[in-house]
Amino acid sequence: MLTYFKNIWIGFYSALVGMKITWKHIFAKKVTIQYPDERFPLPSNARNRLQLMPARCTGCTLCVAACPVNCITLETVRVVPDDPHQELYENGTPRKMWVTRYEMDFAKCCFCGLCVAACPSDAIHHTTDFEYSSLDRSHLYYKFQTLTPEQAEEKKRLFAEFKAREAREKEAKAQAAKPDAPRPEAEV
Ligand code: SF4
Ligand code: SF4
Repeated sequence: MLTYFKNIWIGFYSALVGMKITWKHIFAKKVTIQYPDERFPLPSNARNRLQLMPARCTGCTLCVAACPVNCITLETVRVVPDDPHQELYENGTPRKMWVTRYEMDFAKCCFCGLCVAACPSDAIHHTTDFEYSSLDRSHLYYKFQTLTPEQAEEKKRLFAEFKAREAREKEAKAQAAKPDAPRPEAEV
């Protein structure tokens, strides 16, 4: 009978010893939060998902050159004088290059911030958005260009025509400068 009560006491005492740390932490100050219902405030200089401001981007390619993992894809086309759609940068100066493609693969990005530091126009910056994980890698591929594919093709066509016209004019001038040279063919 004595052994029976002794075993009950040992079991009870073991539970009390085991619960000692639990009780200690119940009354201690909390250091964890119930994410995602609660969130720690992030510092303003946190390096999370990047954002491009197209109205500032000049298409200079410095961010592409600075990126150590080649996760930025950039394509530009020069703005030609006879483009009916002219645009100003955010600072009011006329746009010189159309950014026909500006894409970032955040599955590759290591958030080093080198592209942000390299940008002379302050067109790219880190945001505090870190909740964009996905089971589909294609969701991590962001497209920042504002031109539609059709508009981009139109800009490329205008530039090709401009270059061809420029070449023809150059050729015509060279021909005209030659004495007794045959007249260049008229433009169709
Ligand atoms: S943060 Fe670093 S890795 Fe990411 S795009 Fe910029 S330069 Fe590339
Ligand atoms: S460095 Fe800045 S301005 Fe130049 S292409 Fe990159 S984002 Fe645009």
